[in-house]
Amino acid sequence: MPEATDVLIVGAGPTGLMLAGDLAAAGVSVTVLERRAQESLLTRAFAVHARTLELLDARGVADELVTRGVQIGKLQMIGDAQLDLKRLPSRFPYMLLTPQHETEAVLAKRAVTLGADVRLGAEVTGLRQDTDGVSVSVRRSDGTADTWRARYVVGADGMNSVVRRTLGFPFPGRAALRSVMLADVRLTVPQGMPLANAVREGIAFVSPLGDGWHRVVAWDRAKQLPVEAPLDLEDVRTITRKALGTDFGMHDPRWLSRFQTDERQAPRYRLGRVLLAGDAAHVHSPAGGQGMNTGLQDAANLAWRLAAVVRGRASETLLDGYQTERHPIGRKVIRDSGRMMRLALIHTPVLRTAMNLASRAAAALPPLADRLAAEATGISIAYPAPPGAHPYTGRRAPDLRLAPGAGTPRRLYEALRACRFVLVGRCPEVKGWEERLITVTPAGPQGPALLLVRPDGYVAWAADDHDQDALLAALPQWVGPR
Ligand SMILES: Cc1cc2nc3c(=O)[nH]c(=O)nc-3n(C[C@H](O)[C@H](O)[C@H](O)COP(=O)(O)OP(=O)(O)OC[C@H]3O[C@@H](n4cnc5c(N)ncnc54)[C@H](O)[C@@H]3O)c2cc1C
Repeated sequence: MPEATDVLIVGAGPTGLMLAGDLAAAGVSVTVLERRAQESLLTRAFAVHARTLELLDARGVADELVTRGVQIGKLQMIGDAQLDLKRLPSRFPYMLLTPQHETEAVLAKRAVTLGADVRLGAEVTGLRQDTDGVSVSVRRSDGTADTWRARYVVGADGMNSVVRRTLGFPFPGRAALRSVMLADVRLTVPQGMPLANAVREGIAFVSPLGDGWHRVVAWDRAKQLPVEAPLDLEDVRTITRKALGTDFGMHDPRWLSRFQTDERQAPRYRLGRVLLAGDAAHVHSPAGGQGMNTGLQDAANLAWRLAAVVRGRASETLLDGYQTERHPIGRKVIRDSGRMMRLALIHTPVLRTAMNLASRAAAALPPLADRLAAEATGISIAYPAPPGAHPYTGRRAPDLRLAPGAGTPRRLYEALRACRFVLVGRCPEVKGWEERLITVTPAGPQGPALLLVRPDGYVAWAADDHDQDALLAALPQWVGPR
């Protein structure tokens, strides 16, 4: 007999682990199968942006992660200007630099604590879906094989997703930049902030990783070798000296490799009972550090929908909203990070001077600089609202202060830690939804009179007065039948 689970997630990267924790918190039986036999110590992503920290805060793990990294209050723009993040309307007015495995470690601990079954050394080799579920073939690291049966499968198995390829999801796009060099090194002259520059010969980017090491990403126009070609630290030093004037005394590399950046996106994130999330659904240039952040947001958006469907509180059409909301965000990230990379490659002196002037002018105009900072950090992400909806609908819920009370949450994002909808307002008791809905009272007037917040921290519905009838009409639509 195959082993059975409600939701099977393929891949224990950041996307899969976040999703597993959310589903487990919502009472769904969830299993994660991961090809790696041990925890990963690789660091691809290291920038965790403010909106992602807010989502982690809504899961009670942001404060722990923040202690494991370095806070950077500025963001390097294309050109030589910097965006000030200190004015972000967030509890996290900075970018956190911390190695990807630290983020994965806090997410894995949370997922397992909440009851997710995470199996390492389990490689998915194939899957087949029928009307009732999905059968999944697995090869274990000890050489044995077994089969799983799940009601839904989520492919969070990265750029070369077996789930995506097996089911024939297209992945159109292109290779953008070949033979990018990556080195994790020690510096004799450590840097506190990310630095980047482009010259005619190539580009170099140097950033602290938050654990005493530094990441160098470099590209040499004259040395376009296959990704498999061995990389010598001297090649990284040479182009860094040309672009940044010094190699900061880099030495003792712990990781040297080449990679190629692709820009691709699956046109559909769902085929029947199988869904894609994270790098399995979209990949793009690492410029701007958006990949892991976008995958974590995918997971947060998908989890509450999938939980509602699996638990019989919503029809499968609720899953369509995942595509409607997250696909355009993925497309925008591909477009913006690609544009950023192409601008970074400009080396003509006149164009570079023009770009530097433009970026300095933008950084000096507070309304524009704040908008750019909100975009770069995910704070301004909003989802489409139906015509006539309250202006707050689809927007990120602000972290409202709540009325004090014994054992009650002090902030909205603490209330969201229960992974349920949160109704903020001074309203008569709403009975019959307690298992899926928490009601909290704001500390004084802040925003609309009634605010219904989804488990992923976005506003589902709002009203400027205490219209009980409108509220009772909205709740079944979002939270499910009473
Ligand atoms: C140089 C570089 C720098 C980057 N910097 C940043 C940054 O600063 N910020 C940022 O947000 N993003 C960054 N990214 C992107 C980021 O690393 C990815 O977007 C992120 O890792 C995607 O997470 P994921 O969970 O979707 O996929 P992955 O992290 O790729 O995880 C997929 C998991 O699935 C497992 N798996 C694969 N196939 C199978 C199978 N058949 N069966 C079972 N398990 C399987 C893999 O072992 C892996 O653990 C960077 C990327 C690169 C290359």
